[in-house]
Amino acid sequence: KTVLISGATGFIGSRLAASLSGSGHHVIALIRNPAKAEMLPPPVTLITSLDQLASDTPIDAIVNLAGEPIGNGLWTEAKRAKIIGSRIDMTGAIVKLIARLDRKPEVLVSGSAIGWYGLWADQVLTESAKAHACFSHELCAAWEKAARPAEELGIRVVYLRIGLVLGTEGGFITRMLTPFEFGLGGPLGTGRQWMSWIERDDLIRLIAYVMATPDLSGPVNATAPIPVTNAKFTEELGRRLHRPVVFRIPGGLLRRFGGGFADELLLGGQRVLPNKALSRGFVFRHETLRSAFEAIL
Ligand code: NDP
Repeated sequence: KTVLISGATGFIGSRLAASLSGSGHHVIALIRNPAKAEMLPPPVTLITSLDQLASDTPIDAIVNLAGEPIGNGLWTEAKRAKIIGSRIDMTGAIVKLIARLDRKPEVLVSGSAIGWYGLWADQVLTESAKAHACFSHELCAAWEKAARPAEELGIRVVYLRIGLVLGTEGGFITRMLTPFEFGLGGPLGTGRQWMSWIERDDLIRLIAYVMATPDLSGPVNATAPIPVTNAKFTEELGRRLHRPVVFRIPGGLLRRFGGGFADELLLGGQRVLPNKALSRGFVFRHETLRSAFEAIL
């Protein structure tokens, strides 16, 4: 199969590209920085613009992951506009590509995140849950809406609501490791906020599963079946790193520096279950956080 990936140089996309091409698929990687291309093993085909693809290019599936990073700085107005704009523009360009392709791909797996649900306390959220308004919801709703015209073009569209991705070399866990290594790790705020995580290779396998399952469409939660609270997450991380977990970082302090970023990404959360994946029989290799930490740390 031929799979086009946007965001192929990212934490998730680079692993997906390597995995798909390693299992015999032809990957077309849409990149913006050729200097990063060496992370993508040949025989991946590199393009820097979708205009480089002729209308008779055979593409079976598209995975859309590109977008301005969310967790690397304060959410100023300009940053928020870039976070949303980069995703809408990329998704719109992909829909335009699909419209002009002679043979349409079978599936578009388009990025979204569990932030779609907004901030919740302990309620369990499956794909049929409603959303609470906040910036994360606004972003994910706009991102999903941008992909929707592909449905009208007769394409199966999956909106992958991705949880906190755990893996080596990148992702949010690397930012947590330094304080823990210095014995300064601890829960954020009350520690009661939920963290719905997924181990990166499980996510890659889930994306491949979604691509290969013709009757799966609409929102699909990409999270492990056992989410945890922030307190439990930090306890498990401390245990794995053999470091104490004694410093509670006050929410007020995080809010002072982080604004909406702290409220939504650090102090708030959502308890998400991957109902659609589980009901189809998808098997997660890492159901528990302990198992994921053993694999990656
Ligand atoms: P990364 O930040 O590692 O990668 C982002 C990718 O998008 C890179 O290929 C990057 O290219 C490209 N990109 C960045 N900014 C722009 C822009 N302005 N215009 C076009 N392309 C851009 O993200 P991840 O791999 O971790 O995540 C992939 C997607 O999944 C992201 O959209 C993210 O929001 C979403 N997601 C990720 C989660 C996680 O825990 N990692 C959780 C939930 C959702 P370059 O290499 O050139 O910078």
